[in-house]
Amino acid sequence: MNILFAASEVAQISQLGGLGDVVAALPKELHTLGVRSRIVVPWTSKIDLKRFRCEKILQFSFTMGGMAENVNVWKSDFFFGVPVYILENRRYFGGEMMYRDFNGYLEPTRYMFFSKAVLELILQWDFVPDVIHSHDFYTATISLFRNTVYKKHPIISKIGILMTIHSIRAQGRAHNSILDFAGIKKNELTSYKNDPMRNINFVEQEILNADIITTVSPTYAKEVLTPQFGYGIEKTLKKRKKDFYGILNGIDINEYNPRLKHTIYHSYGIPDVLEKKLKNKKKLLGELHLRSRDKQPLLSIVTRLDDQKGIDLIFEVFPRIMDLDMTFVLLGQGRVDYINKFKKLAEKYPGKVRLIFKFDHELSKLIYAGSDMFLMPSRFEPCGLTDMIAMRFGTLPIVRLSGGLKDVVSDGYNGFGFVIYNAENLFSVIKRANNSYINFQKLHKVGRARDTQWMHMIERAMRKNFSWKKSARQYKTLYRKIIRKLRNGDRE
Ligand code: ADP
Repeated sequence: MNILFAASEVAQISQLGGLGDVVAALPKELHTLGVRSRIVVPWTSKIDLKRFRCEKILQFSFTMGGMAENVNVWKSDFFFGVPVYILENRRYFGGEMMYRDFNGYLEPTRYMFFSKAVLELILQWDFVPDVIHSHDFYTATISLFRNTVYKKHPIISKIGILMTIHSIRAQGRAHNSILDFAGIKKNELTSYKNDPMRNINFVEQEILNADIITTVSPTYAKEVLTPQFGYGIEKTLKKRKKDFYGILNGIDINEYNPRLKHTIYHSYGIPDVLEKKLKNKKKLLGELHLRSRDKQPLLSIVTRLDDQKGIDLIFEVFPRIMDLDMTFVLLGQGRVDYINKFKKLAEKYPGKVRLIFKFDHELSKLIYAGSDMFLMPSRFEPCGLTDMIAMRFGTLPIVRLSGGLKDVVSDGYNGFGFVIYNAENLFSVIKRANNSYINFQKLHKVGRARDTQWMHMIERAMRKNFSWKKSARQYKTLYRKIIRKLRNGDRE
């Protein structure tokens, strides 16, 4: 079975969020199940071609918008068993970022180009995928191209498409004249709705055109069928309900492994978590110029700075978090207004807060390992990986119980959670976590740390199975289903 992962980002090589983690980890797990996978992503100037041992293997051209476009294909064997291909075209992807906004307003043209380039790449190389696994709106028009421009093509028309929705909010809307630009006839579109603004919606089109649709947690799969979470396309999704599945993401448990030496200051497992976590915390605090705060609870967050992540609630409760004398560390990138507001708040609490506004994979692991609690009060959360990573490092998550967070975190058992999105609820759960930590510290001093609720929760969090094994098998079953469906010629 050959599967091609077509995506906007892939962890380590070029990443901005959880989508990149999935695109790196799932094919690696599929490899152990005997599935041959390749990954294809767009080039950006941030990709370190040297570090990832990239080799230029191919060059091809095709037409987009009536212009001949050249594509350089770079190959990286950085991931064992799963080659990554990077498509370079500097007219469409000239800068540092794979996308300039998280909600799909700015990028339809670039990603329509990338989607067509992926199909044209298949015509150039030695790998015909049985299924293309497409991720979010960025690669959504692959299925649209397959069912229109390439519908009679002897190779492309026979390739199945599985679409994963990582977040339904980013839909990619564009004026329908983009179809002329792409050479797609409007009357060939599945259920094309001529909306009042004469827009087409990429994700909606892919929902109609892909063979199978998945999303990243069972709870989110239910939520997106409602008007509250469906962002206007819940009715279209309902039409495909029998081909729609919620599969919980895993994490790369080898990459995020507290037992692994050299990626964190002091490696550890459940038996020595207390002693080693404290050592990691002290070292991290030292590095972050917060020395002498090792007695206070360290509350961290590693995140995209986007309203999805509940940042407005953090602002509201921030003074009260400081009154509890907690230490706060943030590693995040995103909205400038959020960055400015954080800076302003932090000024009032020198020595208690450290803000790092960048994307830093290595530092993120030191933060997961060295913190006591991890904050994630998301407005909505399709899956959520940072909570899983934190738990794997024995750092207790404080979350809003929505989407995948509800599938993973149980309040008072392996983390802390609240349901209704408001600052009071968030603060009350932080206070509860803080009390539990203080109680743990008291008993720790008298050698009874192992009897505390805190310690039991850490153990449960660390024991939870976050591997991709089960989910990868579920994906393999769905790929098979698509292949069978195509062989029987019953594509809808
Ligand atoms: P989302 O996909 O919505 O951004 P997830 O929780 O699913 O959120 O995944 C986020 C992923 O991106 C995690 O692997 C997290 O560690 C990583 N990440 C987010 N922001 C940063 C950052 N500033 N530096 C390093 N890693 C980050």
